[in-house]
Amino acid sequence: MQATENTKHPKRLHLQSSCVYGPVHSRRLGLSLGINPLPTAEKYCTMNCRYCQYGWTRHVHERVTSPLPSAAAVLAEIEEVLREANALALELDYITFSGNGEPTLHPDFPQLVDGVRALRDRWTPEARLAILTNATTLPRRSIRQAVAKIEAPIVKLDAGNETIYKDLNRPLESPRFEQVIESLIELREEIGDRLAMQTLFVQGVVDNTAAQALEDWIGCVASVKPGRVQVYSLDRLPADQRLLGVGREALAEIAALVTERTGIFAEVFD
Ligand code: SF4
Repeated sequence: MQATENTKHPKRLHLQSSCVYGPVHSRRLGLSLGINPLPTAEKYCTMNCRYCQYGWTRHVHERVTSPLPSAAAVLAEIEEVLREANALALELDYITFSGNGEPTLHPDFPQLVDGVRALRDRWTPEARLAILTNATTLPRRSIRQAVAKIEAPIVKLDAGNETIYKDLNRPLESPRFEQVIESLIELREEIGDRLAMQTLFVQGVVDNTAAQALEDWIGCVASVKPGRVQVYSLDRLPADQRLLGVGREALAEIAALVTERTGIFAEVFD
């Protein structure tokens, strides 16, 4: 697999400065309004991915020092923006839970999902809800049930075994890799092929494109059976600058391979 330098996109992403951001145009989600239910002063995450575009995770999430916005504050801000979008006849494709870390860590995440669904139905009924999640909280039934209410859940799975999982994603606490896979299988059983999986490939100090790593990852994809797989590589300066990006041609080979082996549609995103 051909690697590219990590200097192609030399900038690190700044943290989102509010509960709502955008809307932004993206190839994956069209015109998407982002929801960040997390602190604005530091990343709040259960992982410490070497490639994180926000830099290293400074604290295990229980010790995060910045306050989280209340569910009421998040929903009030969203309603204001959606009302404005409605007045401007802005056609949003998605309203996406994402932001400064892992969005399901908000203590009232299930209520937030219900609240955003109601606001969406009222002000922008054409928009679908999406979430980008690292899947570490999915073993909790309440979180899985809330995620299942979101029309387009996109889950991260960059590894096919515990070794790469620990080395690349550097989870800061449980669950173990097998538990993540088990909960993904449960979610897939609950929601069917609405489940999408995204996988970031890198080389350098960790290489999840190596033959065995790919073999293990394809095995996990086959077990989870998402509706689609999205593969991509570095887009911004990673936390660990020794990582190398993977070229588009190599990503296309990986996408073709996973489709050939599992029958699951896979595509490359730049
Ligand atoms: S899961 Fe996302 S936000 Fe968390 S460390 Fe990894 S890339 Fe960064």
